[in-house]
Amino acid sequence: MGLKEYMNDIVEAVVTTAKGMRITARYGVDPKEEVTLQYPEERWEIPEGYRGFLHNDVKKCTACTMCVKVCPVDCISLESVRGADKKMVLASYDINIGRCMYCGLCVEVCPPKSLKHTSGYEMASAARGELILHFIAEDAAEIKARVARQVAEAAAKAAEAAKTAEAAKTADLSAVAAKPPVVEPKAAKEEEKKPE
Ligand code: SF4
Ligand code: SF4
Repeated sequence: MGLKEYMNDIVEAVVTTAKGMRITARYGVDPKEEVTLQYPEERWEIPEGYRGFLHNDVKKCTACTMCVKVCPVDCISLESVRGADKKMVLASYDINIGRCMYCGLCVEVCPPKSLKHTSGYEMASAARGELILHFIAEDAAEIKARVARQVAEAAAKAAEAAKTAEAAKTADLSAVAAKPPVVEPKAAKEEEKKPE
């Protein structure tokens, strides 16, 4: 390194230090320039469209599994069973927010728009399991058993109704067979006109 480059480096160091100190001094004397936020007493305003923790309105969710299929990191899991009305019933719906990368793909594909990002971002835990959000409090096995009972009851009712309808149909056919044949008036007159 030549003397000229050496001197240039010294000048550059002095200039950049002076620039930095000027900014520090400005923030130090002007309260409007304050950038430190006294978190958690103060918080930044969340911008519109911020992708925070996910929330699923399970009353609107149709258990279509689109969100599960589209998630690149497999952090959504759900269980569902077919109900008596043929619609899917959610038994469990969980999101692992410790794994989620907040890409928003699941929200984009959700047909009934039941899945949404919230503005929440604060959660700390020493246990990974606590980072899994459970959106259905009831036990999945209990829900499945209840739905299975409802399906069985509906099937029994349908079978009973079919049996009753079949019995009514058979009774109608028997009544028709038991009736005497009806002679048409015109045909009866022709019978009378015929010579002996
Ligand atoms: S935001 Fe992205 S990573 Fe998170 S659950 Fe949805 S699809 Fe998966
Ligand atoms: S995409 Fe929406 S409706 Fe379908 S399972 Fe996911 S949250 Fe439910």
